Amino acid sequence: MGKHHVAALLFLPVLILSSCSSRPGPLDDSRLRETDQETSNWLMYGRTYDDHRFSPLKQINEDTIGKLGLAWSRELGTTRGLEATPLVEDGIIYTTGAWSLVYAIDAKTGEIRWTYDPKVPRERAYFICCDVVNRGVALYKGKVYVGTLDGRLIALDEHSGTPVWTAATTGDAKQYSITGAPRIAKGMVIIGNAGAENGVRGYISAYDAETGKMTWRFYTVPGDPSKGFESKAMETASKTWKGEYWKTGGGGTPWEGIVYDPTLDLLYFGTGNATAWYRAIRGEGDSLYTASIIAVHARNGELAWYFQTTPGENWDYDATQPLMQADLTIGGRARKVIMQANKNGFFYVLDRETGEFISGAPFVNGVTWATGLDPKTGRPIESPGAGELKPTIVSPSPDGAHNWNPMAFSPATGLVYLNAKVGTQFLHAPDPKWKYDAERSNLALDGMYDGPLNAKLIGMPPATGELVAWDPVAQKAAWRVSNPTVEDGGVLATGGNLVFQGRGDGVLAAYRASDGKQLWTFDAGTGIMAPPVTYTVDGTQYLSVMAGWGGAPGLFNAPGSGPVKHGYGRILTFTLNGTATLKAPPFGHKEPPVPAITTNASPKTIHEGNLLFNANCGPCHGINAVAGPVPDLRYASKEVHQDFENIVLGGSRASAGMPSFKNILNTTQVRAIQAYVVARAAESSKQVK
Ligand code: CA
Repeated sequence: MGKHHVAALLFLPVLILSSCSSRPGPLDDSRLRETDQETSNWLMYGRTYDDHRFSPLKQINEDTIGKLGLAWSRELGTTRGLEATPLVEDGIIYTTGAWSLVYAIDAKTGEIRWTYDPKVPRERAYFICCDVVNRGVALYKGKVYVGTLDGRLIALDEHSGTPVWTAATTGDAKQYSITGAPRIAKGMVIIGNAGAENGVRGYISAYDAETGKMTWRFYTVPGDPSKGFESKAMETASKTWKGEYWKTGGGGTPWEGIVYDPTLDLLYFGTGNATAWYRAIRGEGDSLYTASIIAVHARNGELAWYFQTTPGENWDYDATQPLMQADLTIGGRARKVIMQANKNGFFYVLDRETGEFISGAPFVNGVTWATGLDPKTGRPIESPGAGELKPTIVSPSPDGAHNWNPMAFSPATGLVYLNAKVGTQFLHAPDPKWKYDAERSNLALDGMYDGPLNAKLIGMPPATGELVAWDPVAQKAAWRVSNPTVEDGGVLATGGNLVFQGRGDGVLAAYRASDGKQLWTFDAGTGIMAPPVTYTVDGTQYLSVMAGWGGAPGLFNAPGSGPVKHGYGRILTFTLNGTATLKAPPFGHKEPPVPAITTNASPKTIHEGNLLFNANCGPCHGINAVAGPVPDLRYASKEVHQDFENIVLGGSRASAGMPSFKNILNTTQVRAIQAYVVARAAESSKQVK
């Protein structure tokens, strides 16, 4: 054996070791199960299968946080909401933006490696309730998976961004959309859908990650009985519906909150509201399996158990908020639990093997729809008259006491950190004359908001936003921080005894995890909804977050939301001693509007225009025509006014995301809306509201 061979033998173990530390092989199931160990990366939506969003990294910690500075920022050229959790593998960030665009970005420099645009038809915006958002991708064995607003699930090559396969998960039905991130469970890509506001039948599907072939599908609500039920679970559910329920689709869309337990081989997800919103209109009964937390066997998609958080749902209390798994000692007993801070204001702790209710408590003050939960079953005790067919102001609002924004769990403190919205209210005015209409949304809400939803005007205290540290064993808050804005971002917890959260006013803040003391802030230039993530590149810890204000709260732009900041969306990355400066392009109008045309419409017409505007245009162009991410029509030019009817009915700006309303509105109504917009411009011309 010569010298050469000895050297080769000596080097061999070293080579293996170095390749282990930098790249532990393909991102497969065994590596996903061990992601907790892999602190350099952020490989899954919630970092680990249990969705803790906790990173043990601690270079950035309660002592060094003062040195945290911007490393780089990257403008994404959109004014729409950004909700994605960036995933990070070996120094590359994989994230999504508005209209389901996918980006691969160098984590160290911010340089874009590739962009993939699925070219979602912009007229799809009409059937998307809550902005053209996307919450991120999944990574598995060299592929990047994204769900698109028009219901496709696409696998991309991780290195080039080139599509490998596409599955049309919602077919041609334009009422469906996908905003949620796909999840991975033993070789399958799991994807849900949204659209219960329009009237669709919800389902969740599993696709072979390699080929895109569907493995199974679980419907969340029963279909037409005359066609036979897909399963015993559907037959059981059908008994909890009245009339010809299948004609509306039923709803129950699983649009977020999907997690997998590889040990129990159970896949958990939440389901949305029923169609229509109001049970007295769609028919009394629990409407299974809407507004529920569901466990199915990952191997075949068959129901393992369900827990309905809001039976006979009536207030848009989707149960699609993040689901978090933990092993907790409760009452002296080790329990495998699953937890959720539900839209309906209650924090639930369930046994994730059986679905048994362990405990539940309101995590915010001012819940009006229920007085509590049955301590044995967890079924809510509704307030008297809560589901009656009459206009009622209810708290929490349909946006929930907590929504899709991810929460975090620190094993060091034993606390769950989440953004909570306290005292949000909504006037539920059910429309007894409602009939299902496939061309429009199907809430059965009677118009919308004659006048602002300002809490002061309805004689209730204004809503507030909080960062809450919740003790899930004791079911009580350990601490609360009051935020200046009602709507804030998702949360990250770290081994540095830190909790990070972005806010609606554009501030990214760090708090001490143990007591909530604010230690650091940074102005990201626009409101933040998305959760930060942390990872290392070449041994240095970084923190990244998508900043971009939108979603339902940003589009609707409700009065009383606090000092929210609209602007252009960007991704920001921080590190200790980072010295970059954020140069945020200016956004919005500095001067009061000057009406481009005059109107001689009667006050009655303008009032009708007000009602029509808030019902049809307000969900995107802002309540009372005060807009954020999309054009503020008080500033509309003469050209826009000249083309007004053609834009609204003719769809002349469909490619820009303004769909045609020809199936919804007629010419007279469009003229009334236009008169209202001009009146609002004149009214606002002295001061910008
Ligand atoms: Ca909903």
